[in-house]
Amino acid sequence: MAKQLVLRVGRERSVVRRHPWIFSGSVAEVRGSPQAGETVDVMATSGEWLARAAYSPTAHITARIWTWDPDELVEADFFARRLRAAVQARDDLLRDGSCTAYREVYAESDLLPGLVLDRYGDVRVVQFLTQGSERWRAEILDVLGSLHPVNGIYERSDAEARTLEGLAPREGVLAGDVPERLEILENDIPFLVDVRHGQKTGFYLDQRESRALIRRIAPPGRMLNAFCYTGSFTVAALLGRSEEAVSIDSSAGALALAKDNAARNGLADERTVWVEGNVFEELRGLRDRNESFDLIVLDPPRLAASASHVPRAARAYKDINLLGLKLLKPGGLLVTFSCSGGLSPDLFQKIVAGAALDAGTEAQIIGWLGQPGDHPVRLAFPESRYLKGLVVRRAEAPGNPKPVFRRKTGLG
Ligand code: SAH
Repeated sequence: MAKQLVLRVGRERSVVRRHPWIFSGSVAEVRGSPQAGETVDVMATSGEWLARAAYSPTAHITARIWTWDPDELVEADFFARRLRAAVQARDDLLRDGSCTAYREVYAESDLLPGLVLDRYGDVRVVQFLTQGSERWRAEILDVLGSLHPVNGIYERSDAEARTLEGLAPREGVLAGDVPERLEILENDIPFLVDVRHGQKTGFYLDQRESRALIRRIAPPGRMLNAFCYTGSFTVAALLGRSEEAVSIDSSAGALALAKDNAARNGLADERTVWVEGNVFEELRGLRDRNESFDLIVLDPPRLAASASHVPRAARAYKDINLLGLKLLKPGGLLVTFSCSGGLSPDLFQKIVAGAALDAGTEAQIIGWLGQPGDHPVRLAFPESRYLKGLVVRRAEAPGNPKPVFRRKTGLG
């Protein structure tokens, strides 16, 4: 008997609209005892066939849809077609060679739930994040072997998402040679990447366009890069018009690589100060010392892991943006990000507006930033939009809200 998930009344609506997730609360019945990762038919209460999905018995997202086409079978060929289509789309997008690192497969957005594939020049890094992608690991690795060849393939299936799926972390070399450090080009800027120990798969590829923008708009003077990781925004700003930069991160390993990235780009030591510390505290220290900057980048880690964490995260975002605006010189630029998917672009803008008000600064948004085209957002899956950024310019004139003096009118 075919293995099936039968949905509760009305829960077929999102599936029909091609949303790929089926939550545990939407399932009325599981038929045929499917194993974790096995392909199941998704059925409406009426008995109508809706989709084919991968089953994740213990996860809150119980199934992720592979296909809405009844004629499309989930088998080795399916992965070959989907992977090649995704990789081809990136070739079309980034063909001029000025960028050698980019995301080749972005999970649900490329109709391959749970699979991420990043290209770092001659090395590919793969992540199997769900029961479904894990089930097809061997077939997917076969397809990787048939794509245009690279020197090495590394697995970084160590993201926290795997825990939710009931999967243990796994990482290591899958094929060929993977050097301890490799070098990529991003818009012709060389960066060193550690795909074995770095965060995510080694580099924040999703900030490529924002780095290019910062290089272009960095004003002369001092830059502050909070949550600098391996220093990519610092390098971009200093290759632009920034003269010196203070960069803060809590990770000593990231800072070591950041220093090497600055040196690799020929930036003199005197132009950079690297601070190992907690940004929330370091910003207060800078404020207490009356420091000020012409450009400030705030790119914190995901402060809200899910919608329920948004209120607390909102306070943290406000805190750093308030401090950032206070540290900004009149006429200076604040480039501020949130990569929390659960926090909407609207709410993020409101938080920054609240911060400006409390900081007593008049400011304008002069740019909206987001994830680049190798991290596409499927129209039917708006959750895949997670990265948003604002370029905020503090007014030249003080323009501060004037303190209000109430005239003592007295009586009579
Ligand atoms: N802008 C970077 C990516 C930043 S990721 C780039 O484009 O490469 C977020 C960084 O914040 C990570 O490097 C992490 O080590 C650091 N981090 C997390 N919490 C922190 C804290 N409280 N204080 C300082 N750094 C922190």
